[in-house]
Amino acid sequence: MIKVNEDYCPQDHVCPIIRRCPAGAITQKYFQALPSINTEKCTDCGICTKLCRAFKKV
Ligand code: SF4
Repeated sequence: MIKVNEDYCPQDHVCPIIRRCPAGAITQKYFQALPSINTEKCTDCGICTKLCRAFKKV
């Protein structure tokens, strides 16, 4: 499971990791929001965790 750590996300931009997720599992409610993970779509591939330290496998 992937968690987003708000301490590592400045929440001041469109999350660039959204378009890197092959499963389309990352969304933002608005463009400065903390991204969230749709656990039903996420395949735990780990790509997001390599691109941004706010994403962590737990
Ligand atoms: S682990 Fe993979 S599928 Fe899940 S949110 Fe990250 S990039 Fe998307």
